[in-house]
Amino acid sequence: MITREEALALDAADPLRGFRERFTLPKDVLYLDGNSLGALPAHTPERLRRMVEEEWGQGLIRSWNEAGWYDLPRGLGNRLAPLVGAAPDQVVVCDSTSVNLFKVLSAALRLRPGRSTVVSELGSFPTDLYMTEGLSPARRLLIGRDGASLAELLDEDTAVVLLSHVDYRTGRLQDMAAVTEQVHAAGALMVWDLCHSVGALPVELDACEADFAVGCGYKYLNGGPGAPAFLYAAQRHHAAARQPLSGWFGHAEPFAMAPDYRPADGIGRFLTGTPPLLSLAGLDAALDVWAEVDLALVRAKSLSLTSFFLRLTDALGLETVTPRGEAERGSQISLRHPSAYAVVQALIARGVIGDFREPDIMRFGFTPLYVSHADVWDAAEALRQVLATGEWAEARFAERGAVT
Ligand SMILES: *Cc1c(COP(=O)(O)O)cnc(C)c1O
Repeated sequence: MITREEALALDAADPLRGFRERFTLPKDVLYLDGNSLGALPAHTPERLRRMVEEEWGQGLIRSWNEAGWYDLPRGLGNRLAPLVGAAPDQVVVCDSTSVNLFKVLSAALRLRPGRSTVVSELGSFPTDLYMTEGLSPARRLLIGRDGASLAELLDEDTAVVLLSHVDYRTGRLQDMAAVTEQVHAAGALMVWDLCHSVGALPVELDACEADFAVGCGYKYLNGGPGAPAFLYAAQRHHAAARQPLSGWFGHAEPFAMAPDYRPADGIGRFLTGTPPLLSLAGLDAALDVWAEVDLALVRAKSLSLTSFFLRLTDALGLETVTPRGEAERGSQISLRHPSAYAVVQALIARGVIGDFREPDIMRFGFTPLYVSHADVWDAAEALRQVLATGEWAEARFAERGAVT
């Protein structure tokens, strides 16, 4: 029997417990979906108000210079860089993860002339797979299709490998250093998708010698719905890398209004057009919180939360999809259930918000800054009751919205 008192004792010893009050969350909700849309930092509304009423309303066009709008994509990139283990001037905040994937995959392909294969993984988040299709590489191979492994697919035609650091469905964490080394040994470049690892655990792009990376601003980072994404390109590639979305914001001198494109020196060449400043302000506010956070503590608490949840769901006899080894686990637990969709809906009706992923996965994300062990205990208890009562079988829990 695992008691709620045990959860409370763990919370009392939690060095991150003070961060909970930095977020605004509804009172009657246990939020285990911060891996899809992060919670609202309490000071974000004030930052947005300032952006709208002062910078836009009063500053008008002057704010491009006076409020630092023009520098924001690079500036936020530098604020975000420590979260992904990047030295300055290698990260920019811009566009969406999908668009940034297209830019870095194209750049990587062009850096490997004579090679034309892109390798990714069958179970990857769909947009990653769709964007590799849109690139139209001569050959696209997928790990997991017909049981193929990365080692079997790498050959002298492999130009680039794209993998998720943490798998969105299963929560499996890849060994970034080992995989990057394996890909480099085959002469290819490595692109990491960090959507489910940035803000959930320390990431070491420079130390692992990653070539490129992308990630979301609206998941663990808490930048707000539709927040801009980020893009990392290792310094050593800057001079030679060319990306195809060669808009004026990536030009060496955008306001020279020259007829021909000349890429900016450095990471700026990965920018494309005018940034969404209202959305950037949300991410700017979110990064204020991250500036105070020790990622080693985030990782330790994440493992404590996920391990605690696993103990509780094991006691319910539920099947776990997420790897049990801590070194192979991100910050979520995925459970398999034949009626996963309905069970998740029944939990949401009780105020416990997780999510469903095809075909039969219940996914629970644990965001160490605002989820406690008591929340984990309460969520597992709600799950126990939903299953024990069979309430998930009610017809209303089978109805599907446009977004699941
Ligand atoms: C959430 C997520 C995305 C989202 O891409 P958008 O362009 O922001 O819609 C991409 N890849 C992975 C792995 C994700 O988890």
